Amino acid sequence: MVFLNKVTDDVARTVVDASSHWRDDQVACWKQACAEEEIPHAKWAMENFIKNAVVADKKHCALCDDTGTPHPFLEIGDEASLPAGFLEAMEEGIRKGLNDLPARPMGVRGDELERISQCKGLYDEPGMLKPAPTQIRRMAGSKIRLTVLMLGGGPEIRSRTQALFHMHSLDHVVEEMITWAVPQVAALGCQPCTLSFGLGRTAVEASSLSLEAMKDGRYDVQSEIEKRITDAVNGKGIGPIGLGGASSVLATFIKIGDMRASGFRVVSMRPNCCMEIRKASCEWETL
Ligand code: SF4
Repeated sequence: MVFLNKVTDDVARTVVDASSHWRDDQVACWKQACAEEEIPHAKWAMENFIKNAVVADKKHCALCDDTGTPHPFLEIGDEASLPAGFLEAMEEGIRKGLNDLPARPMGVRGDELERISQCKGLYDEPGMLKPAPTQIRRMAGSKIRLTVLMLGGGPEIRSRTQALFHMHSLDHVVEEMITWAVPQVAALGCQPCTLSFGLGRTAVEASSLSLEAMKDGRYDVQSEIEKRITDAVNGKGIGPIGLGGASSVLATFIKIGDMRASGFRVVSMRPNCCMEIRKASCEWETL
């Protein structure tokens, strides 16, 4: 019971941290992009986003009014055992964290049909926003690690998961990914973005891998393909909040899973907005 209470408190702090704090590699990337931005009003916008992040970090308040939907990502060590009641304690921690922040009240009232039309309105309590289903992966060791990602609404409107034909060419697939990204980054409005991609065999697998790419992605570690996509979109001159400039995309995170023995690859793309990637982690030793 003592351990489960600690889980709830740790998860609540992690939700607040994810919602209010940019990580060090993210801050360094922002500062470098801002320093290199040559268009004055684009630079001005970036300077203000950085100031916003400093205040949010200092006051532990939300980076954006759209505080996002919590997406829990759980990694369980091969030698760890999940205590009875762990997931319930984790969900209680997410509820507490949303209330502590406080997040924008976005939980939709009603049964499964009423929630579609939103005819019963919203809950007043921020914590009534339920998290997305938990993603689970295994890892080495005896720890349990939870990463909470807060996903805003704007990028969801611009996200896309679809099969594309590979034409036996990696270049063709990458060019298609760039073709997908350009109009969605341009239409988002809350640039600069961080692009995330998952490539898999099914829509479910590709979407899960895109979330994993967000979890693992670092702004100071970019593969050749990730850099190629970032540079290609930045070459279009969309810029911060669409003002023009070189900083439309700060980084690209890609996770490539197993591939289907056929002519298509399922690709899931999310143009994460200027306040994202919003994520934080906590972990517990189980031995
Ligand atoms: S898209 Fe991002 S920055 Fe824009 S309102 Fe939503 S969470 Fe905030």
